[in-house]
Amino acid sequence: MPETTDQQKFVYDFTEGNKDLKDLLGGKGANLAEMTNLGLPVPPGFTITTEACKVYLGSGSEPTALRDEVSAHLEALEKRMGKKLGQADDPLLVSVRSGAKFSMPGMMDTVLNIGLSDASVAGLASQAGDERFAWDSYRRLIQMFGKTVLGVDGELFEEALDEAKRAKGVTTDVELGAADLKRLVEEFKGIVAEETGRDFPQEPREQMDLAIRAVFDSWNGDRAKLYRRQERIPGDLGTAVNICSMVFGNLGPDSGTGVAFTRDPASGHQGVYGDYLQNAQGEDVVAGIRNTVPLADLERIDKASYAQLMQIMETLETHYKDLCDIEFTIERGKLWMLQTRVGKRTAGAAFRIATQLVDQGLIDEAEALQRVTGAQLAQLMFPRFDEKAKADLLGRGIAASPGAAVGRAVFDSYTAVKWSRSGEKVILIRRETNPDDLDGMIASEGILTSRGGKTSHAAVVARGMGKTCVCGAEELEVDTKQRKMTAPGGVVIQEGDVVSIDGSTGKVYLGEVPVVPSPVVEYFEGRTDGAAQDADELVKAVHRVMTYADGGRRLQVRANADNAEDAARARRFGAQGIGLCRTEHMFLGERREMVERLILADHEDERDEALKALLPLQKSDFVELFEAMDGLPVTVRLLDPPLHEFLPDITELSVRVALAEAREEAHENELRLLQAVHKLHEQNPMLGLRGVRLGLVIPGLFAMQVRAIAEAAAERLNAGGDPRAEIMIPLVGTVQELEIVREEAERVIAEVEQAAGTGLRLPLGTMIELPRAALTAGQIAEAAEFFSFGTNDLTQTVWGFSRDDVEASFFTAYLEKGIFGVSPFETIDRDGVGSLVRAAAEAGRATRPDLKLGVCGEHGGDPDSVHFFHEVGLDYVSCSPFRIPVARLEAGRAAALGKGDSDSR
Ligand code: ADP
Ligand code: MG
Ligand code: MG
Repeated sequence: MPETTDQQKFVYDFTEGNKDLKDLLGGKGANLAEMTNLGLPVPPGFTITTEACKVYLGSGSEPTALRDEVSAHLEALEKRMGKKLGQADDPLLVSVRSGAKFSMPGMMDTVLNIGLSDASVAGLASQAGDERFAWDSYRRLIQMFGKTVLGVDGELFEEALDEAKRAKGVTTDVELGAADLKRLVEEFKGIVAEETGRDFPQEPREQMDLAIRAVFDSWNGDRAKLYRRQERIPGDLGTAVNICSMVFGNLGPDSGTGVAFTRDPASGHQGVYGDYLQNAQGEDVVAGIRNTVPLADLERIDKASYAQLMQIMETLETHYKDLCDIEFTIERGKLWMLQTRVGKRTAGAAFRIATQLVDQGLIDEAEALQRVTGAQLAQLMFPRFDEKAKADLLGRGIAASPGAAVGRAVFDSYTAVKWSRSGEKVILIRRETNPDDLDGMIASEGILTSRGGKTSHAAVVARGMGKTCVCGAEELEVDTKQRKMTAPGGVVIQEGDVVSIDGSTGKVYLGEVPVVPSPVVEYFEGRTDGAAQDADELVKAVHRVMTYADGGRRLQVRANADNAEDAARARRFGAQGIGLCRTEHMFLGERREMVERLILADHEDERDEALKALLPLQKSDFVELFEAMDGLPVTVRLLDPPLHEFLPDITELSVRVALAEAREEAHENELRLLQAVHKLHEQNPMLGLRGVRLGLVIPGLFAMQVRAIAEAAAERLNAGGDPRAEIMIPLVGTVQELEIVREEAERVIAEVEQAAGTGLRLPLGTMIELPRAALTAGQIAEAAEFFSFGTNDLTQTVWGFSRDDVEASFFTAYLEKGIFGVSPFETIDRDGVGSLVRAAAEAGRATRPDLKLGVCGEHGGDPDSVHFFHEVGLDYVSCSPFRIPVARLEAGRAAALGKGDSDSR
């Protein structure tokens, strides 16, 4: 729990904060303050800090000083506005708004119109000269307050509202008059009393205090927790609370509310993007209660406000040097800014916007690198629908979040989760989504809604998650109760039918549409030129950003590749060598039989013969590989996996032998094989006879592999090539193991050199993948010319669990309980595994200053982990060919971090 001191300040006026105080004031509060200080029209107010929230969440009650501080700020606000909170003849009303450091759209609760009561509703009506408006505001307060603060089921209010509309024979809430709304208020108050056993609180300050507390509590609501887990937002940040004087968009047709982006969050293009709704309060736009009009229409509705808004949007873009999204309200022709933040965007737009801003001179290249992520690049490399394929178009909606998603139609989140757990790919189809749909959205390949615009809940959340989304497909009639969707032509899609949705075009298809590679992959493959004049806009932007990254990065990027084909692709993708060539794959297929012979060998001759047969095959693999990677390093790992992996499955073989015996046809070879399988069977193969241990107990095995490498290198050399092989020994725990292998390897290499009549430079190094190796790295470096951290095994051995056994069993529980923020196999565990890596790197370099350091675990292609490896000073990361562009980009981002010209953004 944070310390509370006498000096600690828990409340900041909007004039006191700024955009860099997000930790303390939350994103919303910090940016409201920034806009206030920029001189933009923000309704006055103040922010209660996240520190106050943390105290409350830690101790169960508000810090004692908070009440007085809030009173002081409220008093100042009242003085400024010339009216008191809830004052009967002319009430000051406020909104109580949540706002954490990271935006959590729709996750937290906000209550508008605080301060209205039976006593002040008439005062509001006479001040505004509009009775309908006053009662509409009051019913909204009771509805929002009842639901979010008092925990009343929101449906009850919705039903009452629907009933009122039905009774009057109208379809929208604006058609309800003052008398209808007054009746509705009575009804709502009845619902509150019935459901909570108490009356709706009439005292304004009590309303405010309860709402503040509800915002604090909402930090630990289920929706908020789920969203944080998904977005990897820490659970202990807390939320700030913003108290903001109300402005009213529901004061008639010259009022309204809207949302806007300074650029298109899907393409990055500059222009007018947003939605506007006349005669409405904020929540109505996002909720899709009534149909919004495009923001451009505002020019016709209210020219002056439109012009002012355009001006403000430009101010914000220049100030934040980025795409911003905003919320605004117009009260009887006067524009008010209610929120801004650097807006979420699609992956493609992130790259385009970054380069557009460089071109506009707003940011430099180092900063541009901070505006994109490896995860976004990975997203752009996904395949998309084949334009040439024949596809049955069902209809179209708004392209809200790009991607090509295919799956079975489901109409509720519960089914989405259930089906996806059993391995089905699903598309979640809803009229519109709300925060309760979050787990269903996570479980789905894509999301399709028939209502709502680019700023609807579905669109915003899907973009944030990088999920494909088509929203507002109004021509598709979604019936969630009957679990079906009807297309204009009358085609009916039932639950379980396959549909394809294209989040880049908004098109919805019946059945499975085939996919093609993305243009970004074509570019990395070298089939298109990213620098060409007529290159695809996105490809151009990616090309430029990659150039920035490659220009600045310190980490080299190598590939994990076992054959010439993968190596060649890796090279096209920008690999600067091979960091891990696994030789076990060379022992599979038809060669398996030879390996079997090797394992079954009773005496030396038999074994030598088996090895001799394998030698030329291994050698020719290496020749091809060294040729594909000519001039670049190729790290070859000697045999690593337990031998039983090359033998038949124990149960299968036992059954076969038992059946054969019953028929008295038992084959001698099979019996021998079974014996060997029994002998090699291990309880914990991961910790068994593998890696260097194999090399030490199977005479000649490593020698054969070293010979194959050396002979291949010699052959390439004699053919005029430039082979750069490196020999890597797996699973070393002590320097003695390495010394024995080294001695043998040097003898073999010398023999090959002699025979080939050429000198060879074949550095020999080791993997560091056991805690003991890491802890004795200083000694091991005496016998190793390089270290390659095998972070998969190192993670297993440091944690003491085997990946194969545990990922499916308890990881979900650990993630849910927050023990892991993310699986340690996905992102390196900095504190545990990472600190061993750091220490081993230091100790190794202390022994041998020119020791080469790399990493070849799965982590080599993981964005966060790449940053860590940059920080600890490794020379290279190695990852699967497809991850190479991501690793290059992240290595460039890591190097540029802190060097950008607008890092204080
Ligand atoms: P969220 O984080 O869910 O967007 P907000 O706190 O921004 O929640 O508020 C919800 C809606 O209410 C928004 O549309 C916002 O613009 C509107 N709103 C918030 N405060 C006020 C206010 N003081 N006057 C008018 N509308 C407001
Ligand atoms: Mg908002
Ligand atoms: Mg390993």
